[in-house]
Amino acid sequence: MSSPSPATAANDSHVLRPMTTDLPTSLEKEHREGEVSIRKHPIYYFDDGSLILDVQVERFKLHHALLSRHSRYFSSITLPNQSKGFDLDAKTGHYHVVVEEERGVKPKDVEALLQHFYHDKPLWDNSDFSHVSSLLRITSPQQFDFPQLHTTALRIFETLFPKDPSAFAHKHPLHEALDLAKQFKLDAVRKAVLYSLMTTTEFDTTGEDEGSNDPAVTTPSNPNAAQVNSCPNDPSPTIPTTANVDSNDSTIHPSVGSKNDDGISALTTPDLPLRISKADAAVCMTLMTKIVEHFTPILFTPAATPHMECTDVFADTWMKLVIQPAIDDDGVYKPLETLEKMKSIDWAAHGLCPSCVKEKDEEWTDEQRTVWSLMDKWLGIDTV
Ligand SMILES: [Zn+2]
Repeated sequence: MSSPSPATAANDSHVLRPMTTDLPTSLEKEHREGEVSIRKHPIYYFDDGSLILDVQVERFKLHHALLSRHSRYFSSITLPNQSKGFDLDAKTGHYHVVVEEERGVKPKDVEALLQHFYHDKPLWDNSDFSHVSSLLRITSPQQFDFPQLHTTALRIFETLFPKDPSAFAHKHPLHEALDLAKQFKLDAVRKAVLYSLMTTTEFDTTGEDEGSNDPAVTTPSNPNAAQVNSCPNDPSPTIPTTANVDSNDSTIHPSVGSKNDDGISALTTPDLPLRISKADAAVCMTLMTKIVEHFTPILFTPAATPHMECTDVFADTWMKLVIQPAIDDDGVYKPLETLEKMKSIDWAAHGLCPSCVKEKDEEWTDEQRTVWSLMDKWLGIDTV
């Protein structure tokens, strides 16, 4: 898991364990031998809190009773023999939790969780991608294990991605979602993101190792006694080229991070190099090959009609109106967009009869659905 600041990357949160549960009041930050700098969170540090929570360099002070009502992780603090990372301060009676690094918890995700629970920014159907993603991660069994909220976050997350191919004519969802889609086995989301990736980005996998493991998925054993199964263990739907070599957060270009609430526009900015794992790039390449194979004959063959005159219209205009723009726009591997453009051409103005205009519009809409459906086969998944 990447950390938001390079300075935190090498820190081992466990070195904080011997510290007292309260910071010196005169200091906002405490520095130790160039090693650790931990700071009180500017918002979620309540003086009347009963739980100190250290996540990387952020220290939160929260109300244990509130969190433990909903979270298997926090409720397990009070169980016997749950000592890993948990301390009870005898003097204050407060719990002190140092979140283990291998849990992959990010401070910004904790913030999102607290924004929800303290009603600053509740999760709801219109929540933005960044907020939903954070809650999806932080509530998972691998992290803080809020089963009910996790289910809700999963549901909302899925609705952020269109299932209908027509939606992909213009707008594309987030690249960052690929990891979440894989981690939580959301095939429809994964398919949507892969299509977007294939059509909108230059794959950049340079400077990256082979990705021999996937921390996001192989999050270690949960110390909690009660492990829920909202993230099933069944083998993920396989794509031959991915094997188990998946990307992880560290392969995503930092500037495409989820700090940007308006991630969609950021991700469609053409000069942003998006970095994905080699395995994901291979999946995209395979998908692209299949799509080009399928779509090339359709694109390069002028449409036929039952009427000689209408067929002639296509024969005369196909190169100029369809093929050349598609070549200029890499449309051969953007079938959904290219078909949409074909539908938007004013064919009547070029001499096509009304019934042929209608017929072709329906035919190309069907073809969009066909491509979308075939992608399941090409990706080895089942979403349609
Ligand atoms: Zn006609």
